[in-house]
Formats: sequence, C-alpha cells, structure tokens
Amino acid sequence: MNIILLGPPGAGKGTQARILVEEHGMVQLSTGDMLRAAKESGTEMGDIVADVMARGALVTDDIVIGLIREQLNTVNANGFIFDGFPRTLAQADALTNLLAAEGESLDAVVEMEVDDDALVARITARSTCGDCGEVYNDNTKPQPADGKCSNCGASDFRRRADDNEESLRTRLMEYYKKTSPLIGYYYAKGMLTKINGLGEIATVKAAIDKALS
Ligand code: AMP
Repeated sequence: MNIILLGPPGAGKGTQARILVEEHGMVQLSTGDMLRAAKESGTEMGDIVADVMARGALVTDDIVIGLIREQLNTVNANGFIFDGFPRTLAQADALTNLLAAEGESLDAVVEMEVDDDALVARITARSTCGDCGEVYNDNTKPQPADGKCSNCGASDFRRRADDNEESLRTRLMEYYKKTSPLIGYYYAKGMLTKINGLGEIATVKAAIDKALS
C-alpha cells in the first residue's frame, strides 16, 4: 500500500508515519528529513536549501522530486508513506508518474485536520531524538527525566531551527497557498479521507487505521 499523509506542519504526520512503519513494515519517505540530512552533511544541495528551509518557504519542486525519485528507484518496500510530499500540484503529478514507472500507484491519501492554534502550540513545544527521530512534546509527551530517549536510549534531543513563530507563519501560509489545493485534487480522484488530527496519538492512529482498512 502506498499512502500520503497530508496536513499542515505540526499535524502529526511524522509521528503517525513512524507508527505505520513499526506496525506494517512500510517505509517512510519524508522530504523534510531528507533535506535536513542533506543540510547537516553539508552537501551542495544542503547548502542551497538551508536558507529556504530556515525561512519556512518551499524548496523547489525539482529538488524534492529528485529526492523521491532516487528513493523509489533504490528502495524496495512493502508500501511507502509519503510524509511532507507532495506539497504542490506539480509534485503530486510527478508522484503519480514516478509510481507508475515502478509499476505502482497511490492507494490512499489521509488528510489530518488540526486547527491553527493547536499547530502553533504543538510546534513550539516539539523536540525530537537526534538519533532515532522519536518525537516529544513538552506538554503531552515530555523528554524522559533520565535524559535518555525512551525509544533508543540516546541523549541527543533537538529542536528544529524552523520551529519558531516567524517561520511557522510562513510555513502555514505556504501550506494554505500551495499544498491545500491537493485536498481538492485527491478528493476529485476519490482517494481522500479526512481524519481529526487533534486527539491523542492512539486515537489519531485508530482513525488512520480505519481510513486505510
Ligand atoms: P517538514 O519536515 O516536512 O516540515 O519540512 C521542513 C521544510 O523542508 C519545509 O518547510 C520546506 O522548506 C522543506 N520541504 C520539505 N518537503 C518539501 C516539499 N515536498 N516541497 C518543498 N519543500 C519541502
């Protein structure tokens, strides 16, 4: 099964994708994670995207489509979860073509709805384990008191440079302007299921399972 988790920054796409990976052996393809890795390893592409990402703007379609193409060409999976991709209609069309080239297609698009106030609250409280990517929230899932990640035991907690109010404003505007048209696009294709992304992690997970069953 190949699915897209669609939703604004902070909707919980990454958290839910990780659960799907664990439970169903699917592979998570997060363009945000790929771009952050490129930035950290100091590749030429990483240098090009660093400033764009810090501002909260979108990286060019060519770059992210290239990243996804490379993964689809090289990774064998029992289904992909697209997390943070596609973010524009051009990316959505490219994804259809890339999957078709592999003899695959998209099975479902799950739209995670969360209101803006909740997004701001979530994002400003968010941190992740730098080693395994486990996501923490200062209010609902604080970092363990012993300073070690509950998933992998590492003690390298990070906050994203773009998780601040100013870039968040840009990221939300980019979402409404360029990404939200995908909701209508996939609805028209009969592929969209909307779920409430506001609840507890387990409640949202159950809603996603139902949408995919
Ligand atoms: P994310 O981790 O999905 O929130 O992405 C972090 C940042 O990476 C975004 O604010 C964009 O600057 C960039 N980015 C990630 N995915 C895409 C995409 N599909 N298209 C354009 N830019 C992206």
